[in-house]
Amino acid sequence: MKVDILASGSSGNCIAVRSENTTVLVDAGIARTKIDKRLLDVGIKPTSIAAIFVTHGHADHIKGLPIANKYKIPVYAGEDEWKSIKNVDPELQAIKRTEKILELNDLFIDAFATHHDAYDPHGYTIRDRAGNKVSVCLDTGHVDDVMIRMMSDSTVYVIESNHEPKMVEASQYPNSVKSRVLSDVGHLSNSQTAGALSRLIKGMGEQIYLTHLSASNNLPALAEMTVVRALLKRGFKKNIDYKIEVIS
Ligand SMILES: [Zn+2]
Ligand SMILES: [Zn+2]
Repeated sequence: MKVDILASGSSGNCIAVRSENTTVLVDAGIARTKIDKRLLDVGIKPTSIAAIFVTHGHADHIKGLPIANKYKIPVYAGEDEWKSIKNVDPELQAIKRTEKILELNDLFIDAFATHHDAYDPHGYTIRDRAGNKVSVCLDTGHVDDVMIRMMSDSTVYVIESNHEPKMVEASQYPNSVKSRVLSDVGHLSNSQTAGALSRLIKGMGEQIYLTHLSASNNLPALAEMTVVRALLKRGFKKNIDYKIEVIS
């Protein structure tokens, strides 16, 4: 399976996952015209997209959803999350239930609940018949045991590594925003992400993509170092046991 991160961060998130026969997107959080262009850049025809899976209804995840209307692509989201998604034609709105695996050609898509200040936020796992598995875990205040179980044995992890708590505390953000980011339903800190990956990585050559970094309260090198150190404690070496890339 091939994973292309077309956009990452608070200005927009969009991830393309494709097998030999099927392409899906997770989130469409940049302008539709930009998605069109970036899809073309990586050789994906928008008409070939089988479905879009939405993590939650914040603008940086849904801004470009009118692409679904243009190409008649079904859009899946948690049932209650549709309360905050208003830019998709009704006939394309689909519900992704956590307990039901969706089969799309040669892909199997499952969802797990995340912890974020949205109505019904989710992360997704996408498997193919060859045993490849991509997990996408974006905005969430913490990672629970169910999420770990759902994501385990992935070959690719796309996970947010949003902020360094000390940088948030020292930032110019209003206190309300600071406490939101740092809360249990906010975003993952570098060490939370490192903690989750220490439970997930088995040294099988997995690919990690650290995404959704805060532009003002994180540094790509710091995010990577936090994960690399945590995995080294478990005996796993970068580029030998796993690969890591920061998409900021
Ligand atoms: Zn969000
Ligand atoms: Zn976000």
